[in-house]
Amino acid sequence: RVKAGGRNNYEYYTESMRKAAVNRLNLLNDLRYATENGEFFIEYQPIITLETGRVQKAEALIRWQHPKRGLIRPDDFISIAEESGLIIEISNWVFRQVCDDINYLRKNYCNELQLSINTSASHYFSTAPSIMEWLDVLLNTHTPSNALVLEITESLLMDADKSVTQKLFQFRQAGVSIALDDFGTGFSSISYLKKFPTDYIKIDRSFVNSMTEVSNDKILCEAIIVMAKKLGIEVVAEGIETNEQLNILKNMGCEYGQGYYFSKPVKKAQFETMLRNQLENVG
Ligand code: C2E
Ligand code: MG
Ligand code: MG
Ligand code: MG
Repeated sequence: RVKAGGRNNYEYYTESMRKAAVNRLNLLNDLRYATENGEFFIEYQPIITLETGRVQKAEALIRWQHPKRGLIRPDDFISIAEESGLIIEISNWVFRQVCDDINYLRKNYCNELQLSINTSASHYFSTAPSIMEWLDVLLNTHTPSNALVLEITESLLMDADKSVTQKLFQFRQAGVSIALDDFGTGFSSISYLKKFPTDYIKIDRSFVNSMTEVSNDKILCEAIIVMAKKLGIEVVAEGIETNEQLNILKNMGCEYGQGYYFSKPVKKAQFETMLRNQLENVG
C-alpha cells in the first residue's frame, strides 16, 4: 500500500513537472515572438520627494501584453528571458524607450526628471554583448547621463566578477547613477556598500510593509536611513501603502518614497498628465 501510494505520488509529481516544463517552453516561444514583434510596453511609477511632495523621479517597469494570455507581469517572464538570453534584446529595447521618454518628458514638463531602469545580472557578464553600448545610445540620443539611474540587485552583485564592478564604475564615471534595489532582503547588503559605488538605496517594501507591526523592521529602516545619510547615499522607500508608513519614514528623514499610496505604475500618457498637473500647479 505504502509502495503504491508512493508511486502514485511520484507519477503525479512528474506529471505536474512535465506540465510546468511545457508551460515554460510555450512561454519561451511566445517571448521570442514578443521580442520580435513589440508586445512590450513600459509603465512608470512615480517616486515622490517626501519633503515637497513633488515628482522628479520615476521607475520604468516592463509589461508584456500577450495576445492570448493578456497582461503578464515581469515576475512571470523576466527569469525566462534571463535563462534564454532574450533579456539582452528586451533590456536594450527598454533602455532606448526610456532614453526617448527622458528627452521628451524633460523638454516638456520637468528638466530635472530622472528615470530608473531595472537591470539583470546576465547583462553585465563578460560573455554577454556589452551593456557598455548603452553609453553610445546615450550619446546618439542626446540623453543627459544624469537623467538615468540603473537599478541593480544584490543577486547581481553576489556573483560579480571584476568586469561587473568595472562596468558599474564606468557608468558612474559617465554620470549615470546607481541604485541598490530591494535593499535589506539579501544576506550581505551592507558589505556591498563597501565594494560598490551607490547613489541610492531602495529599502525593500517588505520592511516598509511590516514597519507598523514589527518594531524590529522599523528599527532596521531607521538604521538604514541613518547609515545611508552618513555615507552620502540617498534613500528611496519602496512599497509605501499607508499614510502612517509615510509619516514614520518622513520623520526618519527618508528622502524619497514610492508606492501605491502615491500611485501605482501607470502608462506613459498618465505619467505625463501627472507631470503636467504638477507643472501647472507651480504656476
Ligand atoms: P522592483 O524593481 O523591486 O519593482 C517594484 C515592484 O513593486 C513593481 O512590481 C511595482 O509594481 C511593485 N510595487 C510598487 N509599489 C508597491 C506597493 O505599494 N505595494 C505593492 N504590493 N507593490 C508595489 P512589478 O512591476 O511587477 O515588477 C516586479 C519586478 O520585476 C521588479 O521589482 C523588477 O525586479 C523586475 N522588473 C520590472 N521591469 C523590469 C525590466 O525592465 N527589466 C528587468 N530586468 N527587470 C524588471
Ligand atoms: Mg526596481
Ligand atoms: Mg525593489
Ligand atoms: Mg524586485
